[in-house]
Amino acid sequence: MKCSQGENFSKGELQRFGNIELSPSAGILNYGQGLFEGLKAYRKYDGNILLFRPEENALRLRIGAERMCMPSLTVEQFVVAVKETVLANERWIPPPGKGSLYIRPLLMGSGAVLGLAPAPEYTFLIYVSPVGNYFKEGLAPIHLIVETEMHRATPGGTGGVKTIGNYAAVLKAQSAAKAKGFSDVLYLDSVHKRYLEEVSSCNVFVVKGNVISTPSLKGTILPGITRKSVIDVAVSQGYLVEERFITVDELLDADEVFCTGTAVVISPVGSITYLGKRVTYGSKGVGLVSQQLYSALTSLQMGLTEDKMNWIVEL
Ligand code: PMP
Repeated sequence: MKCSQGENFSKGELQRFGNIELSPSAGILNYGQGLFEGLKAYRKYDGNILLFRPEENALRLRIGAERMCMPSLTVEQFVVAVKETVLANERWIPPPGKGSLYIRPLLMGSGAVLGLAPAPEYTFLIYVSPVGNYFKEGLAPIHLIVETEMHRATPGGTGGVKTIGNYAAVLKAQSAAKAKGFSDVLYLDSVHKRYLEEVSSCNVFVVKGNVISTPSLKGTILPGITRKSVIDVAVSQGYLVEERFITVDELLDADEVFCTGTAVVISPVGSITYLGKRVTYGSKGVGLVSQQLYSALTSLQMGLTEDKMNWIVEL
């Protein structure tokens, strides 16, 4: 789908996966004017296809587009485009319980622009790929290192939207962490350097007793759709959920830590290393809260439990 600045997207068409042509001076290539989304389609046991809260991705894309000076699709256009793409690629959806089809919508400034300015034209496309677990550990615990020098976002920047540049900013710290054997990086806020923000591609939660805390949304972390869903599920299960500033020292005292995201769903954290000290969690295996929330969310996403929240779109 294409449109010019100041206009609306009209209906798109299905194309075979392949390279796309861009001017060397396209806005996305020169000034990073690009946003993406990520969602999954699951195969239900009765053969139907399930999407999880696609309207939330559409809304997040619209908010991001406003921040990045880009036109966007209506929620309905987005959901229709996702449904049509998934149905056209039905054969790639793994059988129930064997993974999912990852859906990657991408909105970009595709028009040529030499001086710094929003591009004159925009392209929206969706591609898909079958996936298994994001972390090779699956529901087994992952190991994080707290990054103290590099930051993924600053107040007033673009950390709260899903723009491509945010991911360029984390590549160095993430590659260094992986080279040392960690699964990923946990970032701190760039002002005080002591409040938890998020992991390179997921949100973080800290459990202490019956209270589950997660960093509040203040424009520097991505408002994860899994984060929002986990909060609702946890509240419905009787936990007290707090969105607040969480200091890095609170990690020492936590019962459990877990990460949430479309790709990972819920990943329990087995250890966190901060300034050379390693704190471990769940010596007796995966923490109870992570386990409970993982089961509740995945069984909902796969259509195994009743969709009381009305989150599932069935194709
Ligand atoms: N934070 C970042 C930086 C991410 O890239 C993602 C993945 N989209 C998330 C959090 C989790 O968001 P969601 O639950 O919507 O996938």
